[in-house]
Amino acid sequence: MAFDRRGRRGRGREGGDRGGEGGGFRRRREEPAQAEWVPRTELGKKVLAGDYSTLEEVFASGRKILEPQVIDFLLKGQLAEEVMEVTSTQRMTGCGRKMLMRAIVLVGNRAGYIGVGVGKAPESRDAINEAVLDAKKNIVRVRLGCGSWECGCGQPHTVAREVHGSNGSTHIWIKPAPRGVGIVAGDTSRKVLELAGVHDAWSFTKGKTRNVLNMILATIHALNSLNSLKRGVGSAAEEAEEGAGAEAAEAAPAGQSSVAEARQAPAGETPRGEEAETNEETGAN
Ligand SMILES: [Zn+2]
Repeated sequence: MAFDRRGRRGRGREGGDRGGEGGGFRRRREEPAQAEWVPRTELGKKVLAGDYSTLEEVFASGRKILEPQVIDFLLKGQLAEEVMEVTSTQRMTGCGRKMLMRAIVLVGNRAGYIGVGVGKAPESRDAINEAVLDAKKNIVRVRLGCGSWECGCGQPHTVAREVHGSNGSTHIWIKPAPRGVGIVAGDTSRKVLELAGVHDAWSFTKGKTRNVLNMILATIHALNSLNSLKRGVGSAAEEAEEGAGAEAAEAAPAGQSSVAEARQAPAGETPRGEEAETNEETGAN
């Protein structure tokens, strides 16, 4: 069934005859999402050409994602969206008040990728769509692991270590928790952690925690700081998969990747070398 539909859609696109079959109106409405992607950035062209097969490789390349379609292409069918807030904003203009809807949307694959976006438009539906596109461009990778000494299972179900993040006056600390604890957090940060793929974690907050966007950003900053421990993106993923075992085997690829990165940016040679050493220690724990 699915194959059949896809086949027909393909033919329709080639022939330019979209209204030929019944239900042409419905087809049209879903067309924008399904429309063929013409990349406008160099990264987009490379992704479409198949130079990058995973998002991991894109992050490793250090390129900025400017087209949401890059995410759509690489994480097809994996992303979940969550509308966190829709509010109306007002602005005084020469001819009276101008009303806009403002939407905050989370996008995540529940397995290590999370992003937040904000969109504004006269209609809330358009604002949400804008926010989704924005969220895709802001996706960050979350280094999951088992950082809990009470658990030690080696599965990526919690954060790899305690992290702190803040935005404005909002602060959050996220601590690794053993399996079965669940997410101990407020509603907003819980949603962020869920969509990022964290199953168990303890958290503490400080400051103005009722501001949804600040809370989300603080949580994402905290999760993003898991990445700063290690620069070799590929090796971090390997470690998350392999867990605590095989320290010696892990130490080698970690060293290699940081050397490779240091070559790309010679200025950071010494600090990266140090980082690699600390990583080996964490791997052994
Ligand atoms: Zn565990």
